[in-house]
Amino acid sequence: MTNLTDIRVEGYERVIRFRNDENGLRGFLALHDTSVGPACGGIRLWPYASEEAALRDALRLSRAMTYKAVTAELPCGGGKAVVERHAGMRRREAFESLGEIVDGLRGKFLTGPDAGVTEDDLAAAGSKSRYVMHETTPGVGDLSHYTGLGVWHGMRACLEFAGLRKARVAVQGVGSVGLSLARVLREQGFELLVADINPARAEIAARELGAQVVAPEEMLSVQCEVLAPCALGGVVNAETVERIEARIVCGSANNILADDSAGDALARRGILYAPDYLVNAGALIRGVDFGVHKRPDSFASVARIYERMRNVLQLARERGVSTARVADELAEDGLRKRRALRG
Ligand code: NAD
Repeated sequence: MTNLTDIRVEGYERVIRFRNDENGLRGFLALHDTSVGPACGGIRLWPYASEEAALRDALRLSRAMTYKAVTAELPCGGGKAVVERHAGMRRREAFESLGEIVDGLRGKFLTGPDAGVTEDDLAAAGSKSRYVMHETTPGVGDLSHYTGLGVWHGMRACLEFAGLRKARVAVQGVGSVGLSLARVLREQGFELLVADINPARAEIAARELGAQVVAPEEMLSVQCEVLAPCALGGVVNAETVERIEARIVCGSANNILADDSAGDALARRGILYAPDYLVNAGALIRGVDFGVHKRPDSFASVARIYERMRNVLQLARERGVSTARVADELAEDGLRKRRALRG
């Protein structure tokens, strides 16, 4: 039996703490906004240091999903489920229970993959709810590839803005998205540097794409024009920001900046930052195109990330503030308008 407890959090529509003592499922589900449509966002499985850390992640990630949806002009809001990974969890049963929770929300939350979950996890959750989407959903296509393509379109705008035609791109994390992005970059003739804490993943990129492998701990300070964080969030922080040698930071990881001041510090150093939720929206765009608009593919919709990125770069220059702040202001303004329309 799964125990659900509602927690009131200012600015969020609904936050649920869930726990099942029989199969070890525990975590949080946050619905940040459903003013124009369902809250969309993946399921993350992570060994959180504490319950507070898991809650913080659910809140931050679900709000970023709303910003992503508003920025991409999609008829949905943001949500996220985070599950604590621990030795006592019976994984299949736990994900089935999570599927039941998702199903109980009757379409208010549409979910899919995020860091740490496998196809088996999603299949288990999906066996209890049709509101769980996975890569094997017929016709949806390769969601990670759509994300990688979106990052490329954002990067293209940044490279043009910086007046760079060719670049060395350092891809941190060559998992599903990082490798997809690296393949696109290789096709474009860019020089690649890769790092991954899983040496087998870095090896694939080296063998297939001729990428140079860099030790993970050296990646942030490596000499390159573009740093593409495609692993986990928080990589640009007070400690790392001064070490970054790149002229552009543009990657798929959610919450690349540890906080607003990290974005300001990048801007002060003249480093162009591509707001993560603006450029990593490819999978969400594809999910909505597929599920709502029934489009056979989403290459044209994802390519629009280029213009959005250009707009943010221009506004940031005009106003003399960071791209992160401009993107946040545009998203918050859009969200206020959506909520006002709902009344
Ligand atoms: P993934 O798990 O397939 O890949 C992540 C890779 O990063 C793994 O190979 C892992 O070994 C590596 N890694 C972890 N920590 C590292 C470190 N410190 N240094 C170097 N490598 C490290 O995940 P993914 O689906 O490719 O997603 C990557 C990032 O993009 C995540 O932050 C995710 O939330 C975000 N994102 C993904 C999608 C998507 O469509 N999959 C959409 C939006 C955002």
